[in-house]
Amino acid sequence: MTQTSEVIWHNGEMVPYFQATTHVLSHALHYGSSVFEGIRAYDTPNGPAVFRLTDHIQRLFDSAKIYRMEIPFTQEEVIAACKETIRANDFTNAYLRPFAFLGHVGLGLNPKSHRADMTVAAMEWGAYLGEEGLAQGVDVCVSSWSRLAPNTMPTAAKAGGNYLSSQLISGEAKRNGYVEGIALDVNGYLSEGAGENLFVVKKGVLYTPPTTACILPGLTRDTIIHLAKKRGYEVREEPIAREALYLADEFFMVGTAAEVVPVRSVDKITVGNGGRGPITEELQQAYFALVKGQADDENGWLEYVNE
Ligand code: PMP
Repeated sequence: MTQTSEVIWHNGEMVPYFQATTHVLSHALHYGSSVFEGIRAYDTPNGPAVFRLTDHIQRLFDSAKIYRMEIPFTQEEVIAACKETIRANDFTNAYLRPFAFLGHVGLGLNPKSHRADMTVAAMEWGAYLGEEGLAQGVDVCVSSWSRLAPNTMPTAAKAGGNYLSSQLISGEAKRNGYVEGIALDVNGYLSEGAGENLFVVKKGVLYTPPTTACILPGLTRDTIIHLAKKRGYEVREEPIAREALYLADEFFMVGTAAEVVPVRSVDKITVGNGGRGPITEELQQAYFALVKGQADDENGWLEYVNE
């Protein structure tokens, strides 16, 4: 792996990239006991701004709470660390990866100390599912792997261990020539992509799986619901059957890394007209205008790095 930044914030200090290390017996390496966030900063006319930073850090602390993990910093301190990491690396557009993990606390499943190590890394990261995909749409499949059932592991926590499920879903899809895999929930309804939430458009109405469909309640999903309602679209959060993807007028996936990606085929069945549909394009443009500071930020979602 190549070096992705000059420095990384690690337990309260800015350290050179290769010094941000942990012990091989770290609990998280063995049992997946980490919680993390993926956040993007965009260059705006007023300098770099992190989109919904406070909301992401709230979710990080919520994830830690579910697993009784103690983050030895306040949310304000982690927010400041995120901005500082961008500044220290001189980034304008960046992907931020704050994460808390159980480190050298012993190999017992339930260690005495639940005090986490806390790290914030930043890197430059282009379009997650490809630049071309944002314009042309991507080809996806429904995975043979289902998403976690609600009484197995909590999908509202963005925890390291959950991403074994995501690796199975996306790995299978990529090996079969697709860009991404979509998982069904334990009841067979649509859940989410390996790292994205889903929106189906039919007759001008937007449908998205509800939080009971074993999804991560994504902040991009929330942003898109807001932007769609603001433009007068009806948005329904309700169970969606797999075949609704094949019969959709438009289908798109959203996430911080993926942004807003049109889907042009599912399981080799063309969706709608086989490209980026008009409502997808409208919401994609609205999303990019918002995150890049080119639209009215009425919710104060842009958090400027140099303030
Ligand atoms: N679902 C999963 C499994 C994810 O990993 C992500 C990416 N964080 C999302 C949904 C989208 O969440 P967000 O919009 O908050 O990035």
